Amino acid sequence: MSTKNSELATIFHEMAVMLEVLKDNPYRAKAYYKAAKSIEKLESDICSLAASGELEKIPGVGKSIAKHVDEWCREGTFDEYEKLKARFPAGIFEILNIPGLGPKKARVLYRELGISSIGELEYACMENRLVELKGFGVRTQEKILNHIEKIKVYSTMRRAPEAYRLAGEVEKLLRRYSDDVYLVGGLRRFQEVASDVDFLIHVSEPGSVLSHGHLEDFEDVRFVQEDRVLAKYEGFLVDIRISEKPVGVSQLFFFTGSKGHIEALRKIGSGLGITISSDGVFVDEHFVDITSEEEIYNLFGFSYIPPELRENLGEIEAARDRKLPELITDKDICGIFHIHTTYSDGSLTLDKVVQYAVEQGYQYVGISDHSQSAFYAGGLKEDDLKRQRDQIEVVRESYPQIDVYWGIESDILPDGSLDYSEEILGMFDFVIGSVHGSFRMSSEDMSARIVKALNNPYLTILGHPSGRLLLGREPYDVDMNRIIEVAAEKGKIIELNAHPYRLDLDWRWCRRAKELGVPVAINPDAHKAGDFNLHWGIMTARKGWLGREDVFNAKNREAMQRLMKAKPWMG
Ligand SMILES: [Zn+2]
Ligand SMILES: [Zn+2]
Repeated sequence: MSTKNSELATIFHEMAVMLEVLKDNPYRAKAYYKAAKSIEKLESDICSLAASGELEKIPGVGKSIAKHVDEWCREGTFDEYEKLKARFPAGIFEILNIPGLGPKKARVLYRELGISSIGELEYACMENRLVELKGFGVRTQEKILNHIEKIKVYSTMRRAPEAYRLAGEVEKLLRRYSDDVYLVGGLRRFQEVASDVDFLIHVSEPGSVLSHGHLEDFEDVRFVQEDRVLAKYEGFLVDIRISEKPVGVSQLFFFTGSKGHIEALRKIGSGLGITISSDGVFVDEHFVDITSEEEIYNLFGFSYIPPELRENLGEIEAARDRKLPELITDKDICGIFHIHTTYSDGSLTLDKVVQYAVEQGYQYVGISDHSQSAFYAGGLKEDDLKRQRDQIEVVRESYPQIDVYWGIESDILPDGSLDYSEEILGMFDFVIGSVHGSFRMSSEDMSARIVKALNNPYLTILGHPSGRLLLGREPYDVDMNRIIEVAAEKGKIIELNAHPYRLDLDWRWCRRAKELGVPVAINPDAHKAGDFNLHWGIMTARKGWLGREDVFNAKNREAMQRLMKAKPWMG
């Protein structure tokens, strides 16, 4: 059979699948399936038939399909196909590769839950969204998750929790060769997503110990240079620098980077007679015995720059002027907001959530279930709200050692309004406004939508402001600078969603929020017991220069009580 025939058959099949998922017109989908089949079976070359005007003799090829074939033979593609492809989310093809997920199921996922990529599908599975979905269930959900796990092994990028877990395992393996092992590179500076992990190790005879056979726990081991090995561990790229001498501070410093940071320092150093390389630190060509990274900065007269700030984004100037922030730590967090309970899609009861917050030593906790238009997540109807309000009173009495704030995560609808009346919004202590659907908007429209929400006096915190799912869904198009400016103007708080799939607000924007005095709330967005960990959010905040004074939930109990009473965000 001609390869042309099978190429075109594939295209028609793809069109049929796209039409079936989008469900514009079931007859057209059928027509394309049929055409694909008969072209595949065809003995003679499809474009020769097109040239001799014999296309319509082929079963399943009518006038309009014949036109497409003609166009394709001449141009290599055709308009109808290009148009369809342009409005079809490409990620759905990956979903269709999961065993058991045909166009019908993909259609349900897309239409009911707005899922158009593997990342979104994984996130929805983890939030238990498929269990109640027509044609799905617990077993299907589990199978899908298992399959996605497998796919991940083959891709090279890893989100922070996975990247740091793998780094920890690799470090353990390397410690069999030497105790002198250090994590360097991007992961030492904190990365929300990593493509590899870098290590520095001292081995006195690199050739003999780190030879091929000795690295049996790694895959694809390659010596790039005498002092450098590239290998894979569970599919994750590992870059190992080998030092024959014990690892020195200058090496640690040098391989931690970033390149831009080192370059900028070197430039300043050249005026002061300071040279830094992996071989050591020299002042006026004399070797200086350095015992800590602090000493390197001190040579310049600068304060110490922690690894997460070494991105050449103004940290050197700030260190020179002694204006580096004191970065937030786990211990600074006094309470948590943005927690879902069994009232919507969370798996913990309200009582359990409060109990848990008490056990963690928090001084306050803010409950926020989904609002009514989040039907896929069991959003709260007015009756549910009354029940929840009553129960909030009960837990407040049972747990006097903690303040319980009652909130809601209200959908920001496509027109920018929140999906409850002002009367209802006014009942809550705080309102988180989040975009959960209709992501595909121009930057202008999306920005106007969120700006309108920020103008709502009841909105307290803007939830996951870019909507991204790391390695799953790109952020929506939005003018983040303007969002932060309006938030500043209106006295709003911006969330740094600490879920490791989100880490949204991005650290690159945290500093802008800080500059404009917009408090950042590091929120767990917890749906179940394992979700309360703020670690990745705190790491993101640190990389974004945030200190205790910049973080909303680092305020102590009394300060939070005062704020909740004054409600400065109401304008
Ligand atoms: Zn949300
Ligand atoms: Zn949420």
